[in-house]
Amino acid sequence: MFSPDRESMPLPRLKELQLERLRWSVRHAFENNAHYRKTFEAAGFHPDQLRSLADLQRIPFLTKQEMRDNSPYGLFAVPMRDVVRVHSSSGTTGHATVVGYTRSDIDLWATLMARTIASAGGSADDILQVAYGYGLFTGGLGAHYGGEKIGATVIPISGGNTDRQLMLLRDFGTTMLACTPSYAINLADFASRNLPDFDFRKTRLRRGIFGAEPWTEAMRREIETRMGIDAFDIYGLSEVIGPGVSCECSAKRGLHVFEDLFLVEIIDPDTGEVLPEGALGEIVYTSLTKECCPVIRYRSRDITRLYREGCSCGRTLVKMDKVCGRSDDMLIIRGVNVFPSQIEPHYQVVVDRRGAMDDIEVMVEVGEAIFSDELKVMTALSEQIAARMRSTLGITAKVTLVEPSTIERSAGKARRVVDKRKPS
Ligand SMILES: [Zn+2]
Repeated sequence: MFSPDRESMPLPRLKELQLERLRWSVRHAFENNAHYRKTFEAAGFHPDQLRSLADLQRIPFLTKQEMRDNSPYGLFAVPMRDVVRVHSSSGTTGHATVVGYTRSDIDLWATLMARTIASAGGSADDILQVAYGYGLFTGGLGAHYGGEKIGATVIPISGGNTDRQLMLLRDFGTTMLACTPSYAINLADFASRNLPDFDFRKTRLRRGIFGAEPWTEAMRREIETRMGIDAFDIYGLSEVIGPGVSCECSAKRGLHVFEDLFLVEIIDPDTGEVLPEGALGEIVYTSLTKECCPVIRYRSRDITRLYREGCSCGRTLVKMDKVCGRSDDMLIIRGVNVFPSQIEPHYQVVVDRRGAMDDIEVMVEVGEAIFSDELKVMTALSEQIAARMRSTLGITAKVTLVEPSTIERSAGKARRVVDKRKPS
């Protein structure tokens, strides 16, 4: 552990620390940022009212839209002369959001990434190849500063240039790789296609920290098998700080959230109500020590759940599951939360209301070969899909198989959800 006194803190002591820091953070936001002052006052909240962690629920949420509306510097809480760096979210929809860092924020972030590297078994003995992109994106510089903080040897190669990545990985004796999981698979593909003599098992590579996009256990197995390494999931979001918010440990079962620095809540995305530990919902972040861009109850739209369990790694920090979807995409069908990402791959979910019941129909595209005139085969397949959905999601859906490319696509992406219950 990089910060054992924090990462394995007894729970009562952790709660005390969180409350002490929360009071500072909320007061800092209120006193030094006009947007927070305005929204707190509109909700009838004053930092003096914060006496317990539960009082956090009296504070209004900060939404992604508010972040965009205040871009670039409207959520900064320090003078510009104290800001030493800015980063920006990629923002696939709408405007990008800008986040700033003071010198102490940069140091905090480096500590978080040093913890992340240590959690994946890394140390000062490692040679860390950072193949995340460097630039406004937080991945490259985030991993870079964390690597230096822990004392590893950092190779700042950035993304792309795949043949050079592999050459360097072998010749420089890289022991740890940081990139997106899909790029790790890309590296393995490139090697097996173009470099017949390249064998990952003959390199010194032992472990990798992969994040910045959702990935599955199947992808982990593929990376671990093809590269002969241990692959760890890391998580973060630029609005909160960048990578380093949570990460997997040697148990590879859930991601520990660094909750001495970020307070996390799970809410019902529809009502905003705080849900009990273990419930699935939208994760909300509150920074406890950040100076430039404090985030107070930031609605991430990421859907996950939080739980505490004794972990073999010795950390007492709460765990979060891999993010399983976005609250924007969530459908509630007969009281069950369903995410389109839980249904793969070329499908469209049509929800309608018949009488008092929500009705769900899933259209699934099947390949030419499967799409036959043989009715028996088709029926068996749709029954199989329906049964699988029933066991995974707990709801009964009508499954209709359709020919390839029948599902409406916009910009190459299938329209996943047609909700006929909403007035259009
Ligand atoms: Zn652990």
